[in-house]
Amino acid sequence: MRPTWAEIDLDAFARNVHTVTSRLPAGSKLIAVLKADAYGHGAVELARRCPGDRVAMLATVTFEEAAELHDAGVALPLLVMGPMQEAQVALAAERGFTIGIPGPEELAIAVRVALERDVKIHLKLDSGMGRMGVTASELPRAIELIHAARGLKIEAIYTHFANASDPSDDFTDRQTSAFEQMLAELRAAGIDAPLHHMANSAAVMRGLVRPGDYARAGLVLYGGQPVDPAGDAPQTEPILRWRTEIVRIKELPTGSAVGYGTTFHTTRPSRIATLPVGYADGYNRLNSNRGEVLVRGRRAPVVGRVSMDLVTIDLTDIPGAAVGDEVILLGRQDREVVSAEEIAGRIGTISYEVFCNISARVPRVYRDGGKVVAIRSRFDR
Ligand SMILES: *Cc1c(COP(=O)(O)O)cnc(C)c1O
Repeated sequence: MRPTWAEIDLDAFARNVHTVTSRLPAGSKLIAVLKADAYGHGAVELARRCPGDRVAMLATVTFEEAAELHDAGVALPLLVMGPMQEAQVALAAERGFTIGIPGPEELAIAVRVALERDVKIHLKLDSGMGRMGVTASELPRAIELIHAARGLKIEAIYTHFANASDPSDDFTDRQTSAFEQMLAELRAAGIDAPLHHMANSAAVMRGLVRPGDYARAGLVLYGGQPVDPAGDAPQTEPILRWRTEIVRIKELPTGSAVGYGTTFHTTRPSRIATLPVGYADGYNRLNSNRGEVLVRGRRAPVVGRVSMDLVTIDLTDIPGAAVGDEVILLGRQDREVVSAEEIAGRIGTISYEVFCNISARVPRVYRDGGKVVAIRSRFDR
């Protein structure tokens, strides 16, 4: 195997699930958000680590993602948040998945599919994010559709916060009030559900989940920091370590160019190492002349441009570093850590995208109690 892979610590994931669910009030349970292959960590392996007494459901965005978990024998109930096409809603209902209903069009589809078979839904209300969910003005149409429906079971009603990561913004309070108002209108029309849910990772960590409500959290399960600034919100631990190895070291004299575009020139006699990883693996090209990696527990700067398959780093200040040394792109080595937030900050994005961008060319190696228990690679044969 090429010496570039991502190690995922299943014990740390289980601890994070415990930390997050311990934050929930009485009667509340977690909907673990495993969309986008569990933000790049691998949904199947992590789904198997979600205990049924603490995790009520697993959420994906697409039908395909839910079907992958179902095919792998995952027993927890699955919520497909969608949006989905009508044919996919029918397939999802056939498999017993719960359908997220992000608007009146999707509600109309679910009502049609429910003529043939029972359909379980979570109805989404737009409390102010302006993206998905039934808006206040669409509510009368939604009520009409629900009244006329047969075989439709509304398991939950939910909404999504736009800015829960910012504790100083009262927009989250305003969304909560708007959601309450819309729930009251639905109740007045005789429509309610046994469950409600609003909170994402940031809201869970800020303690905003109401007793009995469910919470939908993704990022915190992977050790990302959703609250900005982290302040006194409790944190979870990173579970992914993206590592590679030094495959070549060159001694270059002062004034030597490094990489495409010759954007870096040595200003002293330098030891420049090549790493077998690049932007095709998801190591963003914006790390060129900006990123830092860990070698022998110390930071080494990325010098020159990140290429599709290679990265060059400066080892001049790390005496003794040698071919074969482990290099950490993301994660911990000894006492140093490069977090997804650090990388995101350097390249102008969020930790969510840093995780999701680690490409399928990078095998995922799963550890449990320190031992390798599974390897997932697109090159599996
Ligand atoms: C992705 C997503 C979540 C999870 O968000 P995190 O910030 O990762 O916890 C929750 N709800 C919806 C509707 C989502 O799309």
